[in-house]
Amino acid sequence: MISASFNCGNDALRTLSIRREISVKPESAQAGNARTSSRVMAEGRKPHRRALGIMWLSKLMYERMCTATWIHDQEGYQLLFNRDEKLTRKQAAPPRLAVRNGVRFLAPADGDFGGTWIAVNEFGVSACLLNGANMTGVTSRGLLLLDSITERSAAAVCERVCGLDLSPFAPFTVVAFEPGRPAALVQWNGAKTTFVPYGDSYMPLTSSSFDPWRVRRERRDEFCRLLTSRGHLDADLLFEYHRSHGPARGPYSPCMHRADAETMSFSWIRVTPSGASFFYNPAAPCKITEPLADARGSELRI
Ligand SMILES: [Zn+2]
Repeated sequence: MISASFNCGNDALRTLSIRREISVKPESAQAGNARTSSRVMAEGRKPHRRALGIMWLSKLMYERMCTATWIHDQEGYQLLFNRDEKLTRKQAAPPRLAVRNGVRFLAPADGDFGGTWIAVNEFGVSACLLNGANMTGVTSRGLLLLDSITERSAAAVCERVCGLDLSPFAPFTVVAFEPGRPAALVQWNGAKTTFVPYGDSYMPLTSSSFDPWRVRRERRDEFCRLLTSRGHLDADLLFEYHRSHGPARGPYSPCMHRADAETMSFSWIRVTPSGASFFYNPAAPCKITEPLADARGSELRI
């Protein structure tokens, strides 16, 4: 068990959380799977293992950056997500209501392969996917969430991902949410899986294949700057962060702009006892010009 802190240099703004990381070997390296099974079952869950009924693709490698933030409150939680893509990618389809294994969920669809990177289901469970290192895979990572978003808890989403044969996938991070519980993460680095049941200290979470260390540092610094300036964390600050062009409009700002790529969409999921809503902007969040309350008139609910 490791104690981890998120520290912007101001004790009043410091958020402490306990981070417990559980390493899980890839299935391909698990003759008998004893270690994975015992570790997952030690958390009170059965290992899940089944083949993905999904299409196989030729070598996939994309330069992608994404940024996810979230906040828990007494009502539930909110999840905000910038999806950054090459301009050559097909435009994604906006969120729609879908049903899988009898479970209703809202999710946009990738324009090239039909998977998704963010979804919320009728149980108030949501998940998002951030690509990892710029390595090749033979199966689209966007298909992972479609397979796991039918679960009733964030831990079950992670368990489902951990139980899959991930060897065809390039590295990624899946973050899952449910009301009243910390974010849960699964990170796949191409060789092993790490499960983080208490993942709130990872926020803001950035995945980048372009100058990744500087991107993470610059975006985290910008988050700290905004948090220090405002003095408290709330959803409005997170929205401001996703629209931010700090330290300068370009490849390192949370709202990203380059000659060949930019933030292609902004998603904002809110889960309360009355249900879930999904606000989606099919462009960079800095391009939202109408009042947010008006823009939200088009959001979907489940
Ligand atoms: Zn922008």
